[in-house]
Amino acid sequence: MQSQKKFTPTFSFEFFPPQTPEGMEKLRATRIQLAQFNPKFFSVTFGAGGSTRERTLETVLEIQAEGYPVAPHLSCIGSTRDNIRSILEKYHSHGISRIVALRGDLPSGMAQAGEFRYANELVAFIRKEFGDTFWIEVAAYPEYHPQARSALEDFTNFRRKVEAGSNAAITQFFYNVDAYLHFVEMCEAADLNIPIVPGIMPISKFSQLARFSDGCGAEIPRWIRRKLESFGDDIPSIQAFGLDVVTALCARLLEAGAPGLHFYTLNSAVLPTKIWQRLGL
Ligand code: FAD
Repeated sequence: MQSQKKFTPTFSFEFFPPQTPEGMEKLRATRIQLAQFNPKFFSVTFGAGGSTRERTLETVLEIQAEGYPVAPHLSCIGSTRDNIRSILEKYHSHGISRIVALRGDLPSGMAQAGEFRYANELVAFIRKEFGDTFWIEVAAYPEYHPQARSALEDFTNFRRKVEAGSNAAITQFFYNVDAYLHFVEMCEAADLNIPIVPGIMPISKFSQLARFSDGCGAEIPRWIRRKLESFGDDIPSIQAFGLDVVTALCARLLEAGAPGLHFYTLNSAVLPTKIWQRLGL
């Protein structure tokens, strides 16, 4: 973990673009609450194939207009080069300089031909077309991407993204600290010198967490799963236990030298705020 300690820690919060005016209003309140922690940036997800294109853009520009640093996510699967170029030009014209570059997953039933296959191609495209205009974040998978044929291949593919010009990585969420430490050690051994910021998923509802976890391949360790199951529908107990688990996870990561934390907020400030306060950040 030595190499990670040289990076200035970066704290950030991720949102999804709301579908309704009420959702937008709630997100404004969430932002005001989280802005007090002075995050490096807020990020906004982007549905692959452009399914949230307008809503992502609208949310990003609103955050930018409020004066907060914002990093739009950009998924390339199902998109054309022209499409991606025009989105990036728009962001650039609004003074946005940080992008989370992803392949994305097309929503089921949405088959769309595109000109990009993998995120490393998107990173290379951004560098070719825009030089160093953008700071590029990419995704990393300490427990490996669910579609990867092997751990080794997945790491090689991660390396392609770094070598294509990424500046930093944000991980998929995880609850196994050792998986993250091992991933960082592999980066060190491969001379990949970028910050690998842990993605943190607060625990709010067991069924929702289990669904996310099944979808993205992040393991819920057995002891956590069993304990959460035992609470049934008792949400306050789930959240109280979840806060203990996630706060301890963050503390261990920071102690080990993780270069910051990226919170998956699901557009709510409640749990990230409690974790933040407990950590005494
Ligand atoms: P890639 O890095 O392209 O990897 C995808 C798979 O392909 C992996 O199995 C990898 O091993 C393999 N692979 C990669 N490159 C190659 C290659 N050159 N040749 C052969 N195989 C290769 N999804 C969204 O739709 N919108 C979002 O806003 C969003 N935000 C996210 C933010 C973070 C921090 C993270 C961790 C994930 C996010 N996701 C988002 C989910 C992400 O899009 C999915 O995990 C997706 O399946 C992979 O995207 P990627 O950019 O990691 O893909």
